[in-house]
Amino acid sequence: MGQAQTSIVTGGGAGIGRAIALHLAQAGDNVIVADLNASGAGETVALIEQAGGSGQAAALNITDRAAVDDLIGRACDLRCLVNNAGIFDVKSFDTLSADDFRRMYEVNLVALFGLCQSAARVMPRGGTIVNIASRAMLGAAQYVHYATSKAAVAGFTRSLALELAPKGIRVNAVAPGVIETDMLRARSDTNLDALRALQPGGELGTPDDIAAAVEFLASPQAKFITGQVLLVDGGRSL
Ligand code: NAD
Repeated sequence: MGQAQTSIVTGGGAGIGRAIALHLAQAGDNVIVADLNASGAGETVALIEQAGGSGQAAALNITDRAAVDDLIGRACDLRCLVNNAGIFDVKSFDTLSADDFRRMYEVNLVALFGLCQSAARVMPRGGTIVNIASRAMLGAAQYVHYATSKAAVAGFTRSLALELAPKGIRVNAVAPGVIETDMLRARSDTNLDALRALQPGGELGTPDDIAAAVEFLASPQAKFITGQVLLVDGGRSL
């Protein structure tokens, strides 16, 4: 067997990113788990190793472009980048400030751009990028700054897919619906039963539901799929 190819998962120290890292490691990649929270990243790597996979933890603030370039420059045979790290907060439109917008866009969009640019410079043909958007991209009250940053991720994904197609690099996105993670539980406006009642099937999603979609889009089975934004929301947006 040849040496494993590398995947990088940002925000892999918790929630959805942890599940994505575990899925990609199970699929055979050496996974670099990059997170602001180094101990969370370390816990993810321990879980990967317990399951017989291979991974390394990296402390990374994705808004630090020099650190991003350094991490990507050191990754051997980079097959896949998953831009999962993101921030969220609830704020009514009337109380939003320009700084709230800038902070949200800096992490959810500008940092994601930097990671994609850096990765695209070193990825071989067959490389692939999966961005994590959100169902909120369709429109959401009480967090216009978050919702529009994720709508921008969807547009970015489609445009970048066109630009990178000649280099043999695919770019897709997964847009999760309501998924039970710390990000959701930390929300001041969260009533999990009320959220379940809004789901056609009465269930919220799990990090594994998102990871399975990411694993597929990142796999060679999806070699003819690029520029797509896959809603994984249990039918909530229908
Ligand atoms: P989470 O808060 O549980 O985990 C996010 C991880 O990203 C954390 O480990 C955090 O340390 C890391 N992170 C945050 N800022 C970072 C930075 N600047 N540099 C590096 N790492 C950073 O969140 P989650 O619920 O697992 O969400 C993951 C992604 O899925 C996010 O992009 C989020 O917007 C998106 N999403 C989540 C839901 C949901 O219901 N949970 C729904 C739609 C979309």
